[in-house]
Amino acid sequence: MDWADELAASVSGPQVVNDSKTPSGTVHVGSLRGPVILDVITRALRRRGLDTTLLYGVDDMDPMDAQALLTPDAVDHEMGRPLAHVPDQAGDGHASYARHHAEIFTNVFAGLGVLPDRYYWMSEIYAAGEVDPYIRTALDRVETVREIYRRVANVQHPADWHPIQVVCPNCGKVGTTIVTNWDGERVYFECREQLVTWARGCGTSGWMSPFGGNGKLGWNLEWAAQWSLFRVTIEPCGKDLSTAGGSRDRADAIAREVFEREPPLNVPYEFLNIGGKKMSTSKGRGAAAHEIADVVPPEQLRFLFIRPRPNQVIEFEPEGSDAIPRLFDEFDKFAAATAGREIRGEIAPGYEATFGYALLDPAADVAAEAAAFRPAFSHLALLLQIPNVDLDARVRAEKGSDLTPREAAIVEERVKAARAWLDTYAPERAIVAVRNALPAEAVATLGEPQRRYLAALADAALSTATPPASGEAWQNLIFTVAGETGLPNGQAFAALYAAFLGRTNGPRAGWLLASLDPSFVTTRLRDAAASGVAA
Ligand SMILES: [Zn+2]
Ligand SMILES: [Zn+2]
Repeated sequence: MDWADELAASVSGPQVVNDSKTPSGTVHVGSLRGPVILDVITRALRRRGLDTTLLYGVDDMDPMDAQALLTPDAVDHEMGRPLAHVPDQAGDGHASYARHHAEIFTNVFAGLGVLPDRYYWMSEIYAAGEVDPYIRTALDRVETVREIYRRVANVQHPADWHPIQVVCPNCGKVGTTIVTNWDGERVYFECREQLVTWARGCGTSGWMSPFGGNGKLGWNLEWAAQWSLFRVTIEPCGKDLSTAGGSRDRADAIAREVFEREPPLNVPYEFLNIGGKKMSTSKGRGAAAHEIADVVPPEQLRFLFIRPRPNQVIEFEPEGSDAIPRLFDEFDKFAAATAGREIRGEIAPGYEATFGYALLDPAADVAAEAAAFRPAFSHLALLLQIPNVDLDARVRAEKGSDLTPREAAIVEERVKAARAWLDTYAPERAIVAVRNALPAEAVATLGEPQRRYLAALADAALSTATPPASGEAWQNLIFTVAGETGLPNGQAFAALYAAFLGRTNGPRAGWLLASLDPSFVTTRLRDAAASGVAA
């Protein structure tokens, strides 16, 4: 079984799946693993017939703490204010900084097929008074809260510490205030100049109501309050928050002991590691979601995230590697197996479900999608580099019939991705320039057995009833002739790369030959074979 189906089989009754995020900064592609996991769990629950709601919270009462994202003259005034109250710095018409950044991530989610039933904004939830009962309970039970921090997280708060911050009525900042007393209706607060290093308070203090949007619970309490408020039953969370004594443990204990509700089921998930820091510096590319999205279409990106179990780290190194072509090949393998076609090698159990969950449209006809023709990514990347290739005709020939509209759309998406890949991440060996003239210098280094091999390959290609047309057919012939002539495979490939590219390595040779004019291929093989004799 697929991991999401296993999870769905372990629960019963109506389900509410939830996550939330602070709307600030760029969306790192690694941060998309969570939302995709959330979506796949939701799909698995629904597939099992469980009434399921997917919620996503925007934590826009969190204080502004990223100076780099503010214009210089805004720093003093805005640092420490709730994100919902900070003006849009981009000047493109959003109601707030929070709205601007939330729109970036909700768009990215939508592009990945992650469509929560509802986005809720904590600034609105607080202002509507919905959090008030939890604020009251947390303040009434402040002793219990302090004891939980001591026991679960080994954090000793001062005796007058309270788990809430208010929005300073004078300067509007929330990150600079502390609450030191509670009289049952009002809290005593101080807006301290030096409370944090990243924002400066105004020195105001006094009694005020913490209700109706005036106050904001500390993060662990806000989290637990969300669970109660929205009756959350499942909330996956990143490994960094799921450590012993970490945020999740604290929120779990607060849910049980302060708000008296069993916390939701956790599905801790590991990180996606993208090429370390090397990638962001070498060619000026980062791991911002929109940059990866240019090269990896949504279904392949979903597949990347959900194929491993959530608790497995994903190492993804697209820079100068075959990671992206391999991702497409794996996706195609899952499609082939789902369609009942023969595949090479092993495949994970539950592959049909995994393939279905990778599809963008939750209502897609999985069998039809699996059966659709998909040209290999690396083959397209190769064809794009050969001059005068009629790409549509090649793809049609490879399939053996006309493409359906859906298949044409898949090809179009892949061609775009392959072009982007060649421009960005592709390794040198994938970049091909077929020599119009025989690369004499490279061919001169070939040994006699390699020349005999090239001649034999030309003979074999011409002698078969149906000359090889596809990359697969050429690849098979390359191996067969190597076996017959007793030439090690490595030397056979080296001879081909020398004859066509004038170098020692290249992309998959079968696909390379298939992409060229057949008579050009046989002529070149014979010329290369003969050049040694003439010398
Ligand atoms: Zn904006
Ligand atoms: Zn203040």
